[in-house]
Amino acid sequence: MLGHERARASSPAVRTAAARVGAESFSSRLVERFPLLNLAASVETVVAEIPIAVDALRPPSAPGPLWDAGKDLVARNGTEQRDLVERWLDDPSLLDARIAAWISVSAGPVLELAAAALKPISKEEWSGPACPACGGFPQVSVIREQSGEFMAGSPRYLVCGRCAMWWSFARATCPWCGEDDSRRVGSFAPEGERLVRIDACDTCHSYVKTFDLREQGGRDIVPLVDDVATLTLDVWAHEKGLQRSGVSLAGV
Ligand SMILES: [Zn+2]
Ligand SMILES: [Zn+2]
Repeated sequence: MLGHERARASSPAVRTAAARVGAESFSSRLVERFPLLNLAASVETVVAEIPIAVDALRPPSAPGPLWDAGKDLVARNGTEQRDLVERWLDDPSLLDARIAAWISVSAGPVLELAAAALKPISKEEWSGPACPACGGFPQVSVIREQSGEFMAGSPRYLVCGRCAMWWSFARATCPWCGEDDSRRVGSFAPEGERLVRIDACDTCHSYVKTFDLREQGGRDIVPLVDDVATLTLDVWAHEKGLQRSGVSLAGV
């Protein structure tokens, strides 16, 4: 899937669409109108990307049941496809997880290119739980090297599951319900694991997976890819009665 998204990111149609989606971001930013990207400008291109993605990711790239859902999506008429894409852009959790996964793969190259063209967003500009670029859910969070700021500590970022944007977020706050009582928000990791952990919330029983890029091996982490590669941690969290909000590629 990653290879497919990388290949599509260099196609002229995707590049043109990404420029269109980001065209108003500069003026949006001046008046603090978030999310910064114009998602409506991506719809036609995302619809056009669906059959390309389904064709490129035949089994075994995509598991059989997932691919069947992709074929079903391709077989729908243009109006239905546009409607599904618009709903996904509005709120990915409204859709069947397999359909959402295909739209995510189809939209990824456009949204990621558009988001990558934005200047970094500071915590003074945006510190909310939704993505400032596209309004999507955070998929994982990361802790990075200590910043140069005096007494600032190591910053935490949320990573958007839709456009891969990183933005600052308070370390000890639940992104799902806003709980910031340190007695109710805590970190857990299996014995001996330092690179990845879950940040869990006692108030809403949700968690977010967090990669600590300061640890050994942290430089090689690609958050959205390593999220899928660490599914055992999600199983472990589910066994503890925790749920994952938002949607991951694997639909956990
Ligand atoms: Zn985003
Ligand atoms: Zn919570």
